[in-house]
Amino acid sequence: MSVANLLKTKGNTIYSLHEDASLREAILILNTQNIGVVLITDKQGSLTGILSERDIIRRALVQETGFRDEPVSKTMTKKVKSITSDASIDDVMFLMTNSRFRHVPVVDNGKINGLISIGDVVKLKIAEAENEAAALRDYISAG
Ligand code: AMP
Repeated sequence: MSVANLLKTKGNTIYSLHEDASLREAILILNTQNIGVVLITDKQGSLTGILSERDIIRRALVQETGFRDEPVSKTMTKKVKSITSDASIDDVMFLMTNSRFRHVPVVDNGKINGLISIGDVVKLKIAEAENEAAALRDYISAG
């Protein structure tokens, strides 16, 4: 399956913040939307970073107070690895496993078109396995 197909089911909703937004704003979005990352953009809407709950935990360990008012740009990961819509889900799994992160933004010609999380991939793989099992059961009972 392609990333484009998964996005058709999942949708293109992304949660993003400008790089000057505060960590406080990011924490609020992560908590209210029950998500693991916020994408960070510049004024033009281009992806400039990714901020995960893990980054915030690390920041909180280094500095116990005061960090909430800092810009997200100080804490985010700047070298974001993204994927295009025509990539396969296997490409996404390979990237997540090798890079040891759980989120991959989908970017086509500089435009952010979605975000795939490890949860989306697991959900898809479970559905595929269930469909395959049902097809096999049908095949056996038809014989
Ligand atoms: P995660 O497992 O996705 O919560 O992220 C773990 C770490 O990897 C954090 O430092 C994130 O900022 C970073 N990270 C997550 N996704 C990406 C990505 N697609 N490209 C680069 N870094 C990422």
